[in-house]
Amino acid sequence: MNSEAPTTTPAVADIDINQVIACPDCDLLLEKIPVATGEKLCCPRCGETLREPKTDSINRTLALALTGLLLFPFAIFMPIMTLNTMGLENSGNIFDEVIMTWDTGYRFIALIVALTTIIFPLIKLLLLFLISLSLKFKRYHNSLRLLMRSYIHLDEWGMLEVFMIGILVTIIKMHHMATIQYDVGLFCFIGLLAAALGSSLMMDKDEFWKLIENGERRNQRHRGAEAEGTKFCSNTDFLEQVAKK
Ligand SMILES: [Zn+2]
Repeated sequence: MNSEAPTTTPAVADIDINQVIACPDCDLLLEKIPVATGEKLCCPRCGETLREPKTDSINRTLALALTGLLLFPFAIFMPIMTLNTMGLENSGNIFDEVIMTWDTGYRFIALIVALTTIIFPLIKLLLLFLISLSLKFKRYHNSLRLLMRSYIHLDEWGMLEVFMIGILVTIIKMHHMATIQYDVGLFCFIGLLAAALGSSLMMDKDEFWKLIENGERRNQRHRGAEAEGTKFCSNTDFLEQVAKK
């Protein structure tokens, strides 16, 4: 019987978690190395992208999230298309479709469509806008970590692209049977879809997390300094400059 403790345990315990990165697909632990903009860090075992720094991530994410929010009411409440069959016209918007589905008894389907096409995409855009706005103006309030976590959990639940495929299928199936007029809601919906996808792609999650953690550490330092009666500048972090002298 071997009574010796496993020799790997102390080595694992000694690992500084701030210096390693874990592959989200295969859990391989790798040393964290700096990655320049335009480069990509991939897992050597499964090929998953681990880091891909984005250029001007905060400003671009903020601009696209704001664009999405501005387009949102037009995409949801304006008519998407008008179908004309033998003089009979019928047009509708996304919100009306959800209400009609609910009224016809398919309440579960109506609820799923409302959640994945209206509610979750709107919450995602709002979260992304609030997070990137806070980071841009260096306002690291305590709820930022919660907002970021909520965004990541909701990231898989927005399904605007699935709804877009549904619209395309309708157009392909109906264009032989009816005259289709494309309304302003369709173009706003395409713009919303592009802004939502673009904002997710432009968001550099690693940089966002790093800024949030740095901001939280700075807030703690400031709270400690305030408790001791020291003044500081929230924009330039003047306290740190004083401490270095
Ligand atoms: Zn991997």
